[in-house]
Amino acid sequence: AYDRDLEALQYVDVDRLLPVPTAESDKYRRGVVGIVAGSARYPGAAVLAVAGALRGGAGAVRYVGPAADAVIARFPEALVFDGPPAKAGRVQAWVAGPGLGDDAARLRDVVDAEVPVLIDADGLRLVDHAAVRARTAPTLLTPHAGEAAALLGVSRAEVEAARLDAVRELAARYGATVLLKGSTTLIAAPGGGAVRVNPTGTSWLATAGSGDVLSGLAGSLLAAGLGARDAGSVAAFLHGLAARLAAEGAPVGAQDVADAVPLAWRDVR
Ligand code: AMP
Ligand code: MG
Repeated sequence: AYDRDLEALQYVDVDRLLPVPTAESDKYRRGVVGIVAGSARYPGAAVLAVAGALRGGAGAVRYVGPAADAVIARFPEALVFDGPPAKAGRVQAWVAGPGLGDDAARLRDVVDAEVPVLIDADGLRLVDHAAVRARTAPTLLTPHAGEAAALLGVSRAEVEAARLDAVRELAARYGATVLLKGSTTLIAAPGGGAVRVNPTGTSWLATAGSGDVLSGLAGSLLAAGLGARDAGSVAAFLHGLAARLAAEGAPVGAQDVADAVPLAWRDVR
């Protein structure tokens, strides 16, 4: 169906939303983002989510899980803890799911936290739906079409044929902001209103691990104080721009996309 209730994000909007520190800032005021990702089988997802988070503008990144050694080897600036997220220390927003495997307990701690939470990947498969609906702090879900189809109980083809309907339906059903990934990324808020469309995407992003980078980036923006809709929109915008700047018409890996996020910031500012 024809739909006028769409909003394309522009450079000026993103520039206004970027969390730029001031003289009063310290690392806690800039925000601490907690990352619950990775497993023995998928340690790389943890590293990529942390990589995205370090470029998002939060003051500190805390990784919680069994891939702590891999995270520290690549990012000595990360804080790491391999124990229950509830005991990890101060966190202003959580990212849960990339490469999580079947660790539902680690996820549950985060869903029960009273701070903003982003749920992606394995987290979307494992999560207790009633617990998501019961949350009072902002929730951001970041499915691709396959994950959205599983949440809605329909086929992937049905989601692809009506992406706007799918993203709106998910937001209403879960009382959450939903970022539906794909060749055009859509962001819908739970209260209805315009669906945001990200204009910066590029098919070079269709590469393993790029979604993990996006989740860390968006989580960092949540920790820095952006609302779920703005955090998702700004993250998608920077992520697409970073991929374009890194790729310049040639293939790139997810790590290259994360490394190019500062170039995307400079391009926006
Ligand atoms: P995931 O599906 O979790 O691996 O995430 C993939 C990332 O790449 C998301 O940010 C998608 O929006 C993006 N992406 C995947 N395929 C395309 C495409 N053909 N064009 C633009 N972006 C894409
Ligand atoms: Mg993914």
